[in-house]
Amino acid sequence: MSTVSESFGSMVFDDRVMRAALSKEVYDSLRKTIDEGAELNIGVANAVAEAMRDWAVAKGATHFTHWFQPLTGITAEKHDSFISPAPDGGVIMEFSGKELIKGEPDASSFPSGGLRATFEARGYTAWDPTSYAFIKGKTLCIPTAFCSYGGHALDKKTPLLRSMDALNRAALRVLRLFGNADVKRVTTSVGPEQEYFLVDRKMYEARRDLRFTGRTLFGAKPPKGQEMDDHYFGVIKPRVAAYMEELNEELWKLGILAKTEHNEVAPAQHELAPIYRTTNVATDHNQLTMEIMQKVAAKHGLVCLLHEKPFAGVNGSGKHNNWSIATDTGVNLLSPGETPYENAQFLTFLCAVIEAVDEYADLLRISVATAGNDHRLGANEAPPAVVSIFLGDELTAVLDAIEADKPYSAAEKTVMKLGSDVLPKFNRDNTDRNRTSPFAFTGNKFEFRMLGSSNSIACANIMLNAAVASVLGKYADRLEGADDFESALHDLIRGTVRDHRRVIFNGNGYDEKWIKEATEVRGLPNYRTTPDCFPELLSEKNVSMLTGEGVFTVEELRSRYEIMLENYCKTVLIEANTMIDMARHEILPATEKYASVLAANLALKKSVSPALSCGYEEKTAAALSALTDGIAERVDELETAEAKAREISEIGPQSFAIRDEVIGKMTALRSLCDEAEVITASEYWPFPTYGDLLFGVN
Ligand code: ADP
Ligand code: MG
Repeated sequence: MSTVSESFGSMVFDDRVMRAALSKEVYDSLRKTIDEGAELNIGVANAVAEAMRDWAVAKGATHFTHWFQPLTGITAEKHDSFISPAPDGGVIMEFSGKELIKGEPDASSFPSGGLRATFEARGYTAWDPTSYAFIKGKTLCIPTAFCSYGGHALDKKTPLLRSMDALNRAALRVLRLFGNADVKRVTTSVGPEQEYFLVDRKMYEARRDLRFTGRTLFGAKPPKGQEMDDHYFGVIKPRVAAYMEELNEELWKLGILAKTEHNEVAPAQHELAPIYRTTNVATDHNQLTMEIMQKVAAKHGLVCLLHEKPFAGVNGSGKHNNWSIATDTGVNLLSPGETPYENAQFLTFLCAVIEAVDEYADLLRISVATAGNDHRLGANEAPPAVVSIFLGDELTAVLDAIEADKPYSAAEKTVMKLGSDVLPKFNRDNTDRNRTSPFAFTGNKFEFRMLGSSNSIACANIMLNAAVASVLGKYADRLEGADDFESALHDLIRGTVRDHRRVIFNGNGYDEKWIKEATEVRGLPNYRTTPDCFPELLSEKNVSMLTGEGVFTVEELRSRYEIMLENYCKTVLIEANTMIDMARHEILPATEKYASVLAANLALKKSVSPALSCGYEEKTAAALSALTDGIAERVDELETAEAKAREISEIGPQSFAIRDEVIGKMTALRSLCDEAEVITASEYWPFPTYGDLLFGVN
């Protein structure tokens, strides 16, 4: 048994390995590419490829793959073996710089939203040296970006890297104004807290809804749910503990800093949080984490459910995106500083985030919009669909004082002036304990809490980085042209607080009154569903910002609009069909069977003696028969609605038809089936119940 520090990163071609395996010249050149984005020449690529191959083969790898993140939301890989025939009839293991840098997967089956014309079936993948290569199974995986031959991004990594560059450029301009000449690069970092459910694999296999859609489409409330609050941070059960232990080991080998684990609010729900990393690496790691979670679960006879809402009436799963901006000199720009100057700088970045979140709330909402997440947002457990910022009382009071040109507190005598006063220290513990805010300041970072558990974190961070970059760029324009920097900055901050304070809300985000105030008084957008918000992706304001920052082209945005809405439509239609299938082939036969058993018993009892009491049989058989008819009718209605929606060829109208016609019919069908479940004997019910699933892992 090796210790954690020995095995940590053992499957990663990381800096330690590179330093040892590469000549100093090659290493320095590669480091320049990684740290500063310098171009990589083929000689260096060949040397790196050779070292990677030797390292991977020594670890038992036989194949390599370009590992990428197409718009399906999961990762893709196509394995090639290293072998190449040798003249003596044997093979040698080969891997060239060209193969490292560029790949050409047949891309025709990945979603492109019309970006890839059929004659251009092949896309290409390009090595991302900023994310280390790693070995998974027997395959060397090389993180790559995925593009069409026309140069359009077909993946999530490309726009993410572009957004990080945009933010870097804009932030550097602002930092120069504060006299920071030594900062070379500004990066964003993310620590995503990942929620998930674990259920027993046998029970999972017995439910078509879980297998086909990742969530239960039927299921009556169990006798016990989460009302006792006895699961949150509770003792971890042995089977779950064994799972977590192996999961950690696997993640550590891949260099993933899995750190915290605990039970979540719902029974069978858990959370895993890593230590934060550069956004790009955090995104790759989160994708890998979700994959490994599922693989390890299979080894333990479990299934890891990453769906946002696997069980109705039970808390769903989200992902908290903890986000900060830092310089390569080690300064967290969202951390209040020690000196007045640092504080002014902090306030500038804080204001940029506030303005960005207010201006581009629609993009943030879009970045987390999926059919699955529609079940959570606004459903009394996740943050509402209205985007607002929690700053905490102390920081809000500071901003209030600046806006009003008043002293920060009664005790202070002088008006707070930027650049001459030291801000009070913010204690993390008094800034964050508001769990209902979609976007909370937690002392030195923001926590964006609207992401669904299965979402790639790329989307949210692309929008966040791009929006903040655009606001910082605007600030830089204004301040660079100012005669008096200090007073221009003061005006800028005051103006931002005045114009964007409507997005700051420190109260209870779950309160109905807040939604009313947010929408009616403050004019904040409230996009309740995916079809509502997606059209905003193509609004003039958003297209102009995203193309202006070089994060997306217009064509890429159009294609993403198509793909994401298509994904929504397909997801719900599959769910509808699964319900029809289960109701017809499993539930109706079960209710019919049990009703007939009751009817037979009734007849039998009557034949023995008309005086025998048959209240239960009579009542239950009658109720079940009525429910059976009702279910059959609703199945037909759902089928008609599904077929009608499927016919609509334009994606926008189709998404609305699905939301307004199909989902309602699904709910109606489910409610009768759940009623039937409650009065049907367990042995006749065709699949495991909520109680079985939620309390089945010990
Ligand atoms: P909680 O929010 O549950 O109280 P923590 O605040 O300890 O938990 O951490 C949540 C996540 O935030 C972790 O993944 C952690 O690594 C990450 N995190 C901490 N500091 C930063 C930072 N400066 N930037 C980005 N993420 C951070
Ligand atoms: Mg948190």
